Amino acid sequence: MATRVLKSLLAPSVRTLCRRYSSQDARTVTLIPGDGIGPEISAAVQQIFSAAQVPISWEAVDVTPVKGPDGKFRIPPKAIESMNKNKLGLKGPLATPIGKGHPSLNLALRKEFSLYANVRPCKSVEGYETVYKDVDLVTIRENTEGEYSGIEHIIVDGVVQSIKLITEQASRRVAEFAFEYAKLNGRDMVTAVHKANIMRMSDGLFLKCCRAAAEKHKDIKFNEMYLDTVCLNMVQDPSQFDVLVMPNLYGDILSDLCAGLIGGLGVTPSGNIGENGAAIFESVHGTAPDIAGQDKANPTALLLSAVMMLRHMGLTEHARKIEKACFETIREGNVRTADLGGSSKCSEYTQEICRKV
Ligand code: NAD
Repeated sequence: MATRVLKSLLAPSVRTLCRRYSSQDARTVTLIPGDGIGPEISAAVQQIFSAAQVPISWEAVDVTPVKGPDGKFRIPPKAIESMNKNKLGLKGPLATPIGKGHPSLNLALRKEFSLYANVRPCKSVEGYETVYKDVDLVTIRENTEGEYSGIEHIIVDGVVQSIKLITEQASRRVAEFAFEYAKLNGRDMVTAVHKANIMRMSDGLFLKCCRAAAEKHKDIKFNEMYLDTVCLNMVQDPSQFDVLVMPNLYGDILSDLCAGLIGGLGVTPSGNIGENGAAIFESVHGTAPDIAGQDKANPTALLLSAVMMLRHMGLTEHARKIEKACFETIREGNVRTADLGGSSKCSEYTQEICRKV
C-alpha cells in the first residue's frame, strides 16, 4: 500500500529512467525527424518545447543510409558525430524496407550507441476510454541481441537460419537496469518474461541473470513467468504487472500489446538507454505512410518520449508542465486527433497544448 502511495506521488506516467545526467549538462539534443509522419510530429514537439521555454537546442540530422566503399549501408558519419557529441537524441520513426535495401536503421542506431535497454511505460490516459482504466506498467526489453542480432544465413536452398544470440553480459546489464529502474521509480515488482522451458540455453541464461539481479535487490519483489502466460494474464488483468524485463523479440511484441491496452501506439513513448547516460527517445509507432503529409498524425507518443528525455536530463519541471498540458488536452476531449476518436488536425492539437503549457 505504502509503495502504491509512493507511486502515485511520483505520478507522472513517464517517470525517471536514471539520473546520470545533471541539469547542468550541455543541452543540445540530436533530432532525427525520421520518415513519413516523422517530420510533422517532430515539428509539433519542437513547437511545444519552444512554447514551454525548454532550455535545449536541437541539432537535426539526416540518417538516410549512405553506401560505404564495401557496398554496405551505414548511418551517415554526421549523424554519428552529432550523437557522440550530444549523447542524447530524439527520434521520429524510420522506414525499414522489407527483405531488401538497407537493414533496419533503428537497430543500427541501438547497436552503434550500445542502447541496451528499451523502456516503455504504459499508463492509462485519463479521460480516454479503454477496456482497462488502471494500466500502469513498464516493459524493459534487452535491445541489442536475441533474435535481432542480425545473424542470418542460407544453409541450403530453401533452408534459412536466424541465430538467437544471448550473452551473459547483455542479460546481466538489462536485468540490473530493470531492478534499478524499479527502485528509482517507486515500483515494487520485476517480472522476468521468458520461454526457458523451451529455449533452455538462451532464455535459461537470461533467466539466470534475472535471478542473480533479484538476489542483489531483495527490496524489490521478483517474479518469473512464461511469455505466453504473461500474454494471457496481460489481456485479462494488466494491473497485476509492474516492471517486466525480457529478451529483445518478446519485448518488441509484448510492448505493442501493452500499448494497445492504453489506446495504441499514438500515445506510447519509449526510451533507449545506453551506457554513461547516452539515450535515444522515440515514439514506438512507425512512419504511418497512409497519413503522412496530411496533418493527421498524433504527435503524443513522440511528445511523451521527449518528456521522458527531459526527466532523464533532470528537467523535471518542464517535463511535468508539458505532460500535464498534453493529458489535459486529451481529457477535455475537444481537440483530439483521429486515432483517438477526434477530428482535429495535428497542428490544431499542437496549438492547444502550446496554449496550455
Ligand atoms: P505504423 O505504426 O506506421 O502504422 C500502423 C497504423 O497506425 C497506421 O494505420 C497508421 O496510420 C497508424 N499510426 C501510427 N502512428 C500514428 C500516429 N502517430 N498518429 C496517428 N496514427 C498513427 O506501422 P507500419 O505501417 O507497420 O509501418 C510503417 C513503416 O514504419 C515501416 O517501414 C516500418 O518498418 C516502420 N516502423 C518504424 C518504427 C520505428 O522507427 N521505431 C517502428 C515501427 C515501424
